[in-house]
Amino acid sequence: MVRKEYLREDLRKINAYQVYQQPCTLKLDANENPYPIPLEIRAQLASELLNGNNYHLYPDTDANGLRDALANQLKVNRENIIIGNGSDELIRIVTFAFAGPGDKILCPSPGFDMPSFYARLTGAIPVEYPLSSNFQYSMSKIELAVMEHKPKVLYICTPNNPTGSIMPVTDIAYIARWFDGIVVVDEAYYEFYGESMIDKINQYPNLVVLRTFSKAMGMAGLRIGYLISNKYLVDEIYKVKHPYNVNSFSQRAAELMLEHKNIQMERVQEIIQAREWLYQALEGLRGVEPYPSHANFILIKVKDGLAVYKGLLEKGILVKHFGDNPVLKNHLRITIGRMKDNKLILHSLAEVLTDMEEW
Ligand code: PMP
Repeated sequence: MVRKEYLREDLRKINAYQVYQQPCTLKLDANENPYPIPLEIRAQLASELLNGNNYHLYPDTDANGLRDALANQLKVNRENIIIGNGSDELIRIVTFAFAGPGDKILCPSPGFDMPSFYARLTGAIPVEYPLSSNFQYSMSKIELAVMEHKPKVLYICTPNNPTGSIMPVTDIAYIARWFDGIVVVDEAYYEFYGESMIDKINQYPNLVVLRTFSKAMGMAGLRIGYLISNKYLVDEIYKVKHPYNVNSFSQRAAELMLEHKNIQMERVQEIIQAREWLYQALEGLRGVEPYPSHANFILIKVKDGLAVYKGLLEKGILVKHFGDNPVLKNHLRITIGRMKDNKLILHSLAEVLTDMEEW
């Protein structure tokens, strides 16, 4: 075995990020889109794959075709955009670009795991700022955390995963004005909500916005995310982007997705309706406390989270359980599927809860 001295001391203390894959018949654990990529797009991709002769060459390292298509839709310039291998890669790149060993990165708690994880990988220190007791953002708690920790980067996720709560753009703008560091706004679930900071990238020099094709656009398996910021920050972040980070096939799929975006946006409307339906139904279920959500999932609180998680899994339904995270004890996150999935989860949840009462 190699000597420990060869390894990075801080990295040895970090566990590899685990994604627990469980066999199931209804997968509602990862906020994926329940609809497959539209047939028109798959047919076009298949024909380009058969007739194409470009796959022996490296992809366009700058993804210019996709950046131009996005720039056109978002009313920004190509120089304002970076394409990532999922927005996950962009969180890693942004972390690497702005924080080094000993620097602090503020992240919401409860919140998405990856910003803290990448902070640790770069040797930076993730610091959690709490949400309020009903999991809403609290400006005073953020201000306190900033004053105490003086972070280099402040990460805001809106709508927030896993709580579904949002921070209004006016509050984000306020933070961007007074915070002396980089403000990263993760808008992975933007389409299910509708408010964005993208039109403010030139107004606030410290603002970076992240988006993804994995959720509303339903392309999680093809790994495309994008970052939008002013040219100055984009040039800086570009230095740490890996060459050829996004493969040609996925770049093309995303371009085609933008051409057919209306199909996905209609489905987004259906998912929003399904979310509202499920929220109401969950409110009426004894033993379940749902949190209002602006995304494609709903967080619920139950008496015994692990038992409900296991009970649902026995029925083939996989939802997200947060392990031993103390802030999310007895909480589960349910991805919004189609109406038929909604009915199944509701029915199954009611059965699991009734069985538990009878024990
Ligand atoms: N940000 C948030 C808030 C997320 O929930 C996710 C996925 N769960 C991501 C970023 C990463 O998404 P992707 O890498 O698929 O773009």
